[in-house]
Amino acid sequence: MFLGLILGLLIHFFDDQANTLSHYALYVKPLGVIFLNLLKMLIVPLVFSTIFMSVANIGNILSLGRLAKKTVLYYFVTTAMASILGLILVNIMQPGLHAPQLKAMLTQSMPPTLVSAQEGKTLFDILIYDTFLQVIPTNIFTSLTEGSVLQIIFFTLVFAIFVTSLGSKGKPIIDFMKAVEQAVMTMILWVMKFAPYGIFALILVMVTQTGTEAISVMLRYMLTVTIGLFIHGFIVLPLILWFFGKYNPFIFSKHMLSALTTAFSTSSSAAALPVTLECVKDNAGVPEHIADFVVPLGATVNMDGTALYESVAAIFIAQIVGYQLGLTDQVIIFILATLAAVGAAAIPSAGLVTMGIVFKAVKLPLEGIGLIAGVDRPLDMMRTTVNVWGDAVGAIVVSRFEGEKLKPKL
Ligand code: ASP
Repeated sequence: MFLGLILGLLIHFFDDQANTLSHYALYVKPLGVIFLNLLKMLIVPLVFSTIFMSVANIGNILSLGRLAKKTVLYYFVTTAMASILGLILVNIMQPGLHAPQLKAMLTQSMPPTLVSAQEGKTLFDILIYDTFLQVIPTNIFTSLTEGSVLQIIFFTLVFAIFVTSLGSKGKPIIDFMKAVEQAVMTMILWVMKFAPYGIFALILVMVTQTGTEAISVMLRYMLTVTIGLFIHGFIVLPLILWFFGKYNPFIFSKHMLSALTTAFSTSSSAAALPVTLECVKDNAGVPEHIADFVVPLGATVNMDGTALYESVAAIFIAQIVGYQLGLTDQVIIFILATLAAVGAAAIPSAGLVTMGIVFKAVKLPLEGIGLIAGVDRPLDMMRTTVNVWGDAVGAIVVSRFEGEKLKPKL
């Protein structure tokens, strides 16, 4: 990232052709394109398999009873709150405004089409004709080949609900989809090995073309995500812990310290899982049967930090390209950011890949992912920490809801 930044700035200031993309940058550009194409390639299989498996898992979980319902409710409410917080902040801070050069770069390949804010349309037109009726596919294979994400999501949700309701007869399909999901996850890890080269190229090309504009805009974007994560991590979740969990947030953060630092340094809720479990059980005193259910499930589906980041990033790119996002679009982004967070695997950069779901659904240029990919790692470290913190708070809150006595280590 830094190498791309420094070389990009040098080319921008010392090469006359920088704005039209100098030959230096042209040599490097393919690396970025390969990386982005690999990410795009994974979007459709990822939507299909992760959303299917989320429904199948939740169906399974809900059949487990009361504890499961409370856990899912806590996860849903906190993830939605994070996503809304992200939306509010990005609308207030508007990090993507006043970025004409980035706009030119992103809209090069496609004419800016507004998602729903065409003039002269009523809310009914927008909600029913432009959104709802477009969501039901007439031919799922056409939707798959065209990458119409909302249609794929709709079909997958309905399909998954019915397959899950078949009970043991649906099992072969569920096993198959589980294998597909695992294969796609492994592919993401493989693509991520290429990330340093891709990111180097993407940053270099961006900075060559836009100079310091890119740097200040990206800093504003990072600041917005960071402030959101801080508010959620330091205010919202501690308040929930205090009110509903009746637990002192300061003491709890001490108990969780090693889990949080592991999450921060690995950018992976899955990697932090063993430490999180140990902290929740041994330090905070959450009963084993609750911790063993709530925490591993949370590591895979409960991602508050990721949901917040997804909604900020989507609106940020919309601001850069100048889309006028109406309330409907914001609601769609909210729903999809929440879904994309549930669908993201607990591995580094998973949220960046599922971002494609949100972008495709509201017709944002996928090249936008290239912009945010460059600065993803530090944000991933922070959002993973918030994800794990959310799971841990969940373990306490659910324990209280279950009427359990906690026996924290002093
Ligand atoms: N790295 C995150 C996690 O493991 C997921 C993401 O990329 O947002 O929780």
